[in-house]
Amino acid sequence: MKKVIIIGGGIGGAATALALSHAGFEPVVYERTKQLREVGAGIALWANATHILKQLDLLEDGIRVGCLTTNYQFNSQRGKELVNVPVDGFELPVIGIHRAELHQLLWRNVPGEKFILGETFERFERKGNQVHAYFASGLSVEGDALIGADGLRSQVRVAILGDESPTYRNFKTWRGLTDYIPSTYRPGYIQEFLGCGQGFGFMMLGKGKMYWYAAASAPEAQPDAAIGRKKELEISILNFIPKK
Ligand SMILES: Cc1cc2nc3c(=O)[nH]c(=O)nc-3n(C[C@H](O)[C@H](O)[C@H](O)COP(=O)(O)OP(=O)(O)OC[C@H]3O[C@@H](n4cnc5c(N)ncnc54)[C@H](O)[C@@H]3O)c2cc1C
Repeated sequence: MKKVIIIGGGIGGAATALALSHAGFEPVVYERTKQLREVGAGIALWANATHILKQLDLLEDGIRVGCLTTNYQFNSQRGKELVNVPVDGFELPVIGIHRAELHQLLWRNVPGEKFILGETFERFERKGNQVHAYFASGLSVEGDALIGADGLRSQVRVAILGDESPTYRNFKTWRGLTDYIPSTYRPGYIQEFLGCGQGFGFMMLGKGKMYWYAAASAPEAQPDAAIGRKKELEISILNFIPKK
């Protein structure tokens, strides 16, 4: 059986490990954190992602812990509907789901010994048909292939393509979860409000949680405002809502 070394045990690494197990490979995931956990808030699984969940026999579980999405609605800053895209007409559904739920769904179905935690990848070498991966702890492992699933500032990517910083797209974002559901919320909808270089949106995840997110254009690498992130966001939103 071909052994595949996967660097990173996030949503990407866990999904890859599960897919490779199904395909008859022997994947082993090396994750730098000591505990498997997904941070962050919600994620929308579009039909391409739910197609993969179905192939992994996890679609029903995903629907059970998530929330079916019917429409993606874009509104102006004043709340006037601009576009309303029905997303429930695909062959497979669109699901709003908590990132931790999705992550758990994926890694719980991979045998535990396939996740090696607390190992930080540093570099790799090709030796004949094999690849050797080296870790900060001094561990070195050998496999038939190596896959980088180590996220935005991927060390695997650096080892293959050289050191290139991610491209900053001039937006910063805030994300959160709440139990509060606005009375005007339309069930099944992702609702976004856009204008003046800012945006605010929300959607339902499973278990009665609402995921909200805000984005505003901002220069790169700004420190947090002295008033704190929450206050800064509250002021941005108050300025975003048009005065009557
Ligand atoms: C604001 C925002 C909203 C988004 N919304 C959506 C959405 O609605 N739908 C959607 O499909 N996508 C969305 N995305 C994109 C999606 O979230 C990411 O593409 C996805 O989470 C990336 O997962 P990943 O497993 O590749 O990386 P990550 O989640 O970053 O995981 C990387 C893992 O690798 C580990 N690691 C890092 N370096 C090393 C190392 N050297 N050695 C060992 N382990 C290492 C890390 O600890 C981590 O566990 C969004 C992204 C953002 C920023």
